[in-house]
Amino acid sequence: MQVRVLGAHNLESLHTKHTCFLVDGVLAVDAGSLASALTAEEQAGIEALLLTHRHFDHVRDLPTLALSTLEASGPISVYGLPETLEEVASRIVDGVLYPDFTKRMTEEGPKLSFNPVGDNEDSWHGTYRVRAHKVPHSAPCIGYVVTGPDGHTFAYTGDCGGGLLPFFQDPAGPSPLFVEVTYADGMVERAQASGHLTPGLLRAELEEAIAHGTAMPHIMVVHRDARYEGDIERELRAVSSELEVRITLAYEEMVVEI
Ligand SMILES: [Zn+2]
Ligand SMILES: [Zn+2]
Repeated sequence: MQVRVLGAHNLESLHTKHTCFLVDGVLAVDAGSLASALTAEEQAGIEALLLTHRHFDHVRDLPTLALSTLEASGPISVYGLPETLEEVASRIVDGVLYPDFTKRMTEEGPKLSFNPVGDNEDSWHGTYRVRAHKVPHSAPCIGYVVTGPDGHTFAYTGDCGGGLLPFFQDPAGPSPLFVEVTYADGMVERAQASGHLTPGLLRAELEEAIAHGTAMPHIMVVHRDARYEGDIERELRAVSSELEVRITLAYEEMVVEI
């Protein structure tokens, strides 16, 4: 299974893109840079999209993806919490801000089909098995454990202020685990108020899992705020060496073979 990191930050600029991933060219995870980071041909290859939550940096490119691939490819199956799908349907593909792609037809039916998923539930897209784990955030949010046709598994937490134990204990043994760390330790109050992690908050999550006797996956950090990236990187390096857990940064256009 090949995971392409399209974005690894929480803000977009010339060199940073919203956190999202493309698996084997067909399965996308979050949509914040799905159009801006891909060619039209690559966009047309997307068959399914897993949404973690409704925030703009995770859904922004869904309307433009739908329009740019309208005639080029078949329907896109969009998975997410019911409340996430309702907000997306009523706000950004509502027929006012942009066309209603849940009604706008291709030869095979509506361009977007919405498929609600729940906490700890499995969904299947073809030969990909996807398990959702709910995480604490300022909007309802789920992370995903994705197992490919070859049986290999990775996971992505979505935006979260904690709640990582279900990913560490998932029987599929996901590795790498893409984890959000948005702020540096000096901004812990802001992180906690908005449901995000700092290196110190990640350390507490790792220590809890280690205390449970859980084997640690390779942690790859995304959703970094580029304004504080130097501090985040330095603080993560200390956590990594002190806990003896492999923690690295993911970057835009990084390809991870799993
Ligand atoms: Zn968010
Ligand atoms: Zn976000």
